[in-house]
Amino acid sequence: MACLSRAGFLSTSRSIWSRRKVFIPAALRCTPATGIPIVRRTLASSSLPPSPSFQLSPWRRFLQTLGRVTLVTILTSGGVFLYITHKDRTPGPQEPFDPSKKTIVILGSGWGATSLLKSLDNEDYNVVVISPRNYFLFTPLLPSVAIGTLDPRSIIQSTRYITRHKKRIVHVYEAEATEVDPVSKTVTYQDTSPVKGQQDSGTIKYDYLVYAVGAETQTFNIPGVKEHSCFMKELKDAEKMRTMVMDCIESAAVEAGNPDSQDDINRLLHMVVVGGGPTGVELSGELHDFIVEDLKQWYPELADRVRVTLIEALPNVLPMFSKQLIQYTESTFKENKIDVLTRTMVKEINEKSVIVQNDKGELVEIPFGVLVWAAGNVGRALTRDLMAKIGATQSNKRGLEVDDFLRIKGAEDIFAIGDCTATSYAPTAQVATQQGVWLARHLGQITKKERLEARLRELRSSPGSTPEAIETTVKHINKQSKFRPFHYSHQGSLAYIGSDKAIADLPFLNGNLASGGVATFLFWRSAYVSNLFSLRNRVLVINDWLKVKLFGRDVSRD
Ligand code: FAD
Ligand code: MG
Repeated sequence: MACLSRAGFLSTSRSIWSRRKVFIPAALRCTPATGIPIVRRTLASSSLPPSPSFQLSPWRRFLQTLGRVTLVTILTSGGVFLYITHKDRTPGPQEPFDPSKKTIVILGSGWGATSLLKSLDNEDYNVVVISPRNYFLFTPLLPSVAIGTLDPRSIIQSTRYITRHKKRIVHVYEAEATEVDPVSKTVTYQDTSPVKGQQDSGTIKYDYLVYAVGAETQTFNIPGVKEHSCFMKELKDAEKMRTMVMDCIESAAVEAGNPDSQDDINRLLHMVVVGGGPTGVELSGELHDFIVEDLKQWYPELADRVRVTLIEALPNVLPMFSKQLIQYTESTFKENKIDVLTRTMVKEINEKSVIVQNDKGELVEIPFGVLVWAAGNVGRALTRDLMAKIGATQSNKRGLEVDDFLRIKGAEDIFAIGDCTATSYAPTAQVATQQGVWLARHLGQITKKERLEARLRELRSSPGSTPEAIETTVKHINKQSKFRPFHYSHQGSLAYIGSDKAIADLPFLNGNLASGGVATFLFWRSAYVSNLFSLRNRVLVINDWLKVKLFGRDVSRD
């Protein structure tokens, strides 16, 4: 074995070891001539002169402790991270479908359906999910995908990810429900995907139906909206907008040198957003960021000509926010050169221009490159069809009427949650999520009650059962029968307005806390990260934000 530099290493180390009275591993010491290790039990330093006692300075002690704490934290969180990812990726075996149990059919895989699925204990139910989309979409971050801040895959999570972690197998059909029959208690579905199997449709019987199909974009039957605007509801809408924005910019670059094309270039570089709700405001803010942070670098000759206009029919944007936050948003937009046209109604949309009626009642033509339509919800055809089947009890134009227990009025064993309902709450993810969680608990209570009722029947028919046992079971049944109605608890409203600023209206004590600015933006980000569906989504979104900070947004058009 090669010996370490004896003169240098051992002499220096000896004085340190001797001072700290530490045992030197035998393998590190060698005889001077042969290099063969000498076995010494302790460091006999009696022959050395006593050295002054060694004391770490407070600063070094602090650094040492900090180092240890950091190391332990990194190791622990690394371990937890690996454990969670492993657990997520390896769901265990599940109990099979049980024909003796009741079947819940869930329509949809959005906020309402997913929060229900996540919270539902399906030990006592067979569950079937039918949705044309086999994933959950985190809609609040959709505007970020439309501008390229986030990757589309970062904000979706496969529905199988939830269903494979449930106790009992859940069947997921990537298909569209085409008919609900509340009398025969059946749902008919059709696979509408490009690739289909031999059997691409079917009818399924339910004991309970959870109707959570959301809503579609409201066009108010304005001519040209469907044909010439880009919606902002689904992932494909955000991807389409991103492609269209880049297409307009590249097309403007093609004709940049032509003096006769200046008007057309201005048209191509005009991005119009219709709808001053949170989606429209966030899109406008994100578009501004894209112009300032990216287009200025890669298209310096065009970036200053890119304009963003937000059109809203009401007297102001963000009607659900407090007055000072509305003013703050409007002044930030003014600074950012985003034109806000309030009290302006869209009358018609053509291929290259939109006709609006302004606040003075005049008709004005506004040319655009891309027009995004983010102006409200309307019920789906399936919902209208179901309402017609139920009859006079369902006549609300906003959607399905439900009672305090989220049961559809006029039908049996159908619950409806989320945007497809007409309630006093705003159509938000917050409401749909809370309804889903409440319904999962409610369905759990229903099975508990049914189990107790079965037990009571058993006790009553068995000659050996005591009156006390029967009485106790009756008491339990009465307790389980006290269902609490759904109650919505508002957690606040948040919106991103561009330039690393956000606004927040949060319930505080008995009042409201309104805040806006960069600190609120950090809060907005942390709130969204913590609300994201899974650890995978959180990691991907944080990674995308870092990527954009370091490298900017990708300006290639796919
Ligand atoms: P959805 O989430 O829309 O889900 C409906 C599901 O039904 C989908 O899976 C769909 O594929 C499926 N479906 C459709 N047709 C059928 C059919 N025929 N058969 C079976 N399934 C069907 N809310 C907030 O609280 N905060 C926000 O910041 C926020 N930001 C938003 C940003 C954007 C861009 C958008 C579009 C919405 C935003 N919302 C926000 C609103 C929120 O997304 C909705 O309120 C929420 O999605 C409603 O949930 P839901 O389950 O009712 O419907
Ligand atoms: Mg298919």
